[in-house]
Amino acid sequence: MMTDACLKCGSPMNPKELICSVCGQNDREEYQLIRNYVRSYPNSNAMQIANATGVSVSKILRFIRDGSLTVVDQDTHRR
Ligand SMILES: [Zn+2]
Repeated sequence: MMTDACLKCGSPMNPKELICSVCGQNDREEYQLIRNYVRSYPNSNAMQIANATGVSVSKILRFIRDGSLTVVDQDTHRR
């Protein structure tokens, strides 16, 4: 089934993309926020970043999984 609506906002768009350019722009801005925060506080975990930036934890974890963010401590060597 062909879909040409944005997964996030439902706006019509290029069927080759998952989200429209507006949502893509929002994602980029949130990514910039996160990256700036992580640069200032390199040992933050996703929860702290979410509280500080207002971006949802799941989205931050997605950025980390994508490899866009690699400096984040995911609590793996906390204990
Ligand atoms: Zn959209």
